[in-house]
Amino acid sequence: MKAMGIIPAGFAAIDGELQIAGKGVSAHIAAAGDTPLFVYDLARVRAQVAAFRAHMPDGVSLHYAMKANPWPALLTHMVALVDGIDVASAGELASAVAAGATHVSFAGPGKRDRELRAAVSAGVTLNLESEGEAERAIAIAADAGVRPRLAVRVNPDFDLRGSGMKMGGGAKPFGVDADRAAALVRRIVAAGADYRGLHIFAGSQALDADAIADAQASAIALSARVSRDSDTAPPLVNLGGGFGIAYFPNEVPLDIAAVGRRLADALAARDAVLADTRFAIELGRWLVGEAGVYLTRIIDRKESHGETFLVTDGGLHHQLAASGNFGTVVRRNYPLAIATRFGAPATETASIVGCLCTPLDRLGDRVAVPHADVGDVVAIFMAGAYGATASPAAFLGHPPPIERLVDGDARICPE
Ligand SMILES: *Cc1c(COP(=O)(O)O)cnc(C)c1O
Repeated sequence: MKAMGIIPAGFAAIDGELQIAGKGVSAHIAAAGDTPLFVYDLARVRAQVAAFRAHMPDGVSLHYAMKANPWPALLTHMVALVDGIDVASAGELASAVAAGATHVSFAGPGKRDRELRAAVSAGVTLNLESEGEAERAIAIAADAGVRPRLAVRVNPDFDLRGSGMKMGGGAKPFGVDADRAAALVRRIVAAGADYRGLHIFAGSQALDADAIADAQASAIALSARVSRDSDTAPPLVNLGGGFGIAYFPNEVPLDIAAVGRRLADALAARDAVLADTRFAIELGRWLVGEAGVYLTRIIDRKESHGETFLVTDGGLHHQLAASGNFGTVVRRNYPLAIATRFGAPATETASIVGCLCTPLDRLGDRVAVPHADVGDVVAIFMAGAYGATASPAAFLGHPPPIERLVDGDARICPE
């Protein structure tokens, strides 16, 4: 038997059925019309935003990195809840604008001319990834007769310790190296652009508050250095994000109160060149990951060489991350449960697999579960980020997942 991650707090059973936002999974499935489906609870997203506001120093803005979950119905709510949307393609830009976003910044390598043009005409801040991209953006803006809003993404000369995905420190395709950033700032100011500031993203999925706080302090120091070297104060410094969530056994949730305290200290001690600078933090998974539950139905129950397999109608084509094939080196079990026997004691060890013809399609590896049969529903928790759109949906030709938004607060404060 292998361990699984810890089911987030607040999930209860009524008559043995997992409740999401005050409703049983059968009711969610009936409303959706089929399985598999993702259910996102807006109340959980709101709680994360409230925790951010409560613990981060006043004046630190919250951006949503929409690649974590770009589903339009959710995105519309994110636009209202946060201070800015960070996009990484012209497609995401179009979705953000359609969702009503007015504060948008666009980072990401390999921006095509048509993407730069779309960003410049939409008045979006471009986080420049290279000198070459800067020249193209300047030329495209001149051609369009628009003063571009330009920021410089700096490839930090430090990394985020313990992060699941390192985005800084050493050779990277993202941003310009720290020692060339000041020259690029001078260049875009000299070109007459509307200089918006600096963007420093050092890593993702960190659970250690001190590691995040160290990276933030290093980002503040680096922005001060670039600003002094370029004689230009940045209107905004985007400090990156990297707030992780606990997916796996033995992981402990991030202490964001500790991050907030140390950030307040670092901001109070910042170099005078940053006196009038505003700061932002960009988060994806931390905002939406815990809000999502993936529900998939058991289609077959079988034995092979003494092992029990529960074969579901879902799989890695919807939830690649839970199968251990998205950004993890060692496969570990996401928190999961038999949603139609929620709270029942575990009586057997089973592997929960998807319906794809590949051994990679394993959602739960030898987990302890109550006895489950064909027709029972499996819930995979922590499924709100990097699920539907970070999975190879076209692989093997099964239908896409259904997505639904619910609001656990609605039952507490009915409209
Ligand atoms: C992906 C990404 C994020 C979001 O990362 P999470 O781990 O989901 O918080 C933030 N900023 C940039 C630049 C990114 O590429």
